[in-house]
Amino acid sequence: MKRKLHIVSLGCTKNLVDTEVMLGRLKEYEMTDMAEDADVIIVNTCGFIDAAKEESLQTVLGLHEARKEDSLLVMAGCLSERYKEELQKELPEVDIFTGVGDYDKIDELINSKQSRFTPHVFLSDNQERIITGSVSHAYIKLAEGCNQTCSFCAIPGFKGKLHSRTLSSVVKEVKRLVSQGFYDFSFISQDSSSYLRDLGINDGLVELIDEIEKIEGVKSARILYLYPSTTSMALIEKIASSKIFQNYFDMPIQHIDPDVLKRMKRGVGSEKIKELLDAMKRVENSFVRTSVIVGFPGESEEEFQRVCDYVESFGFDRVNIFEYSDEEGTDAYELKPKIDPETIRERAEKLGEIVEKSSEASLKKMVGKRVEAVVEGPSEEHEYLLSARPLAWAPEIDGEVLINESEVEGLEFSKCYTVEITELAGTQLIGKVVDGR
Ligand code: SF4
Repeated sequence: MKRKLHIVSLGCTKNLVDTEVMLGRLKEYEMTDMAEDADVIIVNTCGFIDAAKEESLQTVLGLHEARKEDSLLVMAGCLSERYKEELQKELPEVDIFTGVGDYDKIDELINSKQSRFTPHVFLSDNQERIITGSVSHAYIKLAEGCNQTCSFCAIPGFKGKLHSRTLSSVVKEVKRLVSQGFYDFSFISQDSSSYLRDLGINDGLVELIDEIEKIEGVKSARILYLYPSTTSMALIEKIASSKIFQNYFDMPIQHIDPDVLKRMKRGVGSEKIKELLDAMKRVENSFVRTSVIVGFPGESEEEFQRVCDYVESFGFDRVNIFEYSDEEGTDAYELKPKIDPETIRERAEKLGEIVEKSSEASLKKMVGKRVEAVVEGPSEEHEYLLSARPLAWAPEIDGEVLINESEVEGLEFSKCYTVEITELAGTQLIGKVVDGR
């Protein structure tokens, strides 16, 4: 009888790719949704902010409660890497702790029931991943680690310095996935615009775009997590002129006030950020996403107001708001004065209202347009509606269009169609399939 595996992936899309690498190593296991039936339970944890840490710990403890007696409980990922010593002492429930460098050895670790922590191992050329959640879209990891010094971020402390994958390794993986039917790709890393800088190439993403465009079968691609100081005008122009890469610009700015940016050690001033964002906005049919931290230590009312005014006037398509979370070991941890949690929450709410309006305006602009979209399957909203994702949007984070009508007979899930956006109902776009692709 096959051994059963229950796996939980928490945190960001980079973690999801690592989970998929582990699944590739554990192909002989039968997947189960029931933790109590599993012989092996893996939790790929996230240790980015307090809320994520709490979620990781609660998940591990909850699964321990549910699991059967002779099963193995594995804690993998960022949280496990960051607090390995403390966790080993405090969580006797866990049988194996592994860090961020062990994904491709998870089978060996389980077999030998050993714990190890090695740096910087990620997908190597001949490894296979089991892509979860889609048969048309896959995330592709470009690098591990980060050379930036953002004062609020603990990631470089436990993921280490930037370590790019070679271009040929990335191309090989994309070709392999295309041969399995995947045609839409999101390229990710902690700071994607620094890709290949550690190998002496300044505009690595420009080279990546050239190479990916040559691969027959790639219909669509986008790059997530551009960093302002390493994003160039040449890259923006390259994306704008690409037939494959969507005009999708995801550049977390975190703030716009010059003094807050300095305290955040972002290595870039507000003028350069505005220049880049204006250039992105000028690109035809561009989609601009960002993220902002509210309540950074010392953030005054005026500084907070400045970021609100900028977000309101720019009109982003999407904005993620993060409430500042004090992380041990970061430079910001030492900064004073701290903003009290109540004020942070109020600021997040106030900015949230602005963001809601700008997302709504972005959705409204789409009504009446025809877009290329993947019909993903039945919608979770309603049994008679289908869910479609415009290729211009990233999966999971940018939303869905609900399909209530089709002029094409026998729609196939995971295929691309032309969708006419017919209305905006509340905050939900509704559309009709008008053509096959
Ligand atoms: S770019 Fe900044 S926020 Fe992102 S991982 Fe690097 S240090 Fe952290």
